[in-house]
Amino acid sequence: MKIGFVGLGNMGGPMAGNLLASGHELKLFDLVDAAIAAVDDQAAVASAADAARDVDVFVSMLPAGKHVRALYLDEGGVLDVVAQQTLLIDCSTIDPQSAKDVAAAAAHRGIEMLDAPVSGGTAGAQAGTLTFIVGGSEAALERARPLLEVMGANIFHAGVNGAGQTAKVCNNMLLAIHMAGTAEALALGVASGLDPGVLSEIMKQSSGGNWSLNVYNPYPGVMDGVPASRGYQGGFLVDLMAKDLGLALQTARESGSSVPLGALSESLFSLHKNSNEAGHLDFSSIQWLYQPDLKP
Ligand code: NAD
Repeated sequence: MKIGFVGLGNMGGPMAGNLLASGHELKLFDLVDAAIAAVDDQAAVASAADAARDVDVFVSMLPAGKHVRALYLDEGGVLDVVAQQTLLIDCSTIDPQSAKDVAAAAAHRGIEMLDAPVSGGTAGAQAGTLTFIVGGSEAALERARPLLEVMGANIFHAGVNGAGQTAKVCNNMLLAIHMAGTAEALALGVASGLDPGVLSEIMKQSSGGNWSLNVYNPYPGVMDGVPASRGYQGGFLVDLMAKDLGLALQTARESGSSVPLGALSESLFSLHKNSNEAGHLDFSSIQWLYQPDLKP
């Protein structure tokens, strides 16, 4: 297939690289030349509009909703130049309303679009094992499936346009809540004289067991191979979790939902980010907020 790909950062770069390696013909664009060069200089084009012309599929992987809106909706943007039969796939994590608005504008011109945010991080992007959470029509998803299977290992159809973003927002809000809760319980136990490893084993086998505790333990030294055991380097950054919690609160406002635990988590992670300069650490470093004595 001929594929246009815009946004070649930490995620988009390796995703585009996997598409190239599987034999597809790509047209690449990023605002940063070095990001294109890191994938393949030969495939570079001069603008996002150039990447969108004369392709079967157009993929974007940008930081936030405002970038996605501008890319597709601005005058001379993607929707103004793309052919009607081109399938549009936005893999960025953005607010569901922006995803719905852009897809509606595309549909108005007879163009199919999917929101397909991912989980799995940069390691998953490199290994081609991402999880795609897709919003849009079944037919559009079937058109996209062969490409998504090159970049990912799991593909979920969440529902109509915007549903992929909504599902991703719900998941990451819950992730923040159980990570903060896990760190809080471990801090309580340690402050009261328990060993964090012993307490973790007890809770794992009891009703407190959850993903953050069981496979991503936030307490340094309890579990091998997790960010807590390497100074919280790598993993899923506090900056990205803070962004996703902002999206959760925005989504709650727009749907008239109450998310008291989500709101509290957003405050906890932003307090942690600011007071511990933790934006570039893994999100399990929230343990430091409860136990500043753990900081180096
Ligand atoms: P990044 O900042 O590394 O990459 C974004 C890229 O987009 C940059 O290279 C930037 O130059 C480019 N860009 C921005 N505006 C552009 C424009 N108008 N035209 C062309 N290029 C433009 O970000 P990332 O880590 O690759 O994340 C991308 C998206 O994936 C975000 O929405 C993020 O929330 C989501 N995400 C990231 C991770 C992760 O672990 N990094 C995991 C899951 C989801």
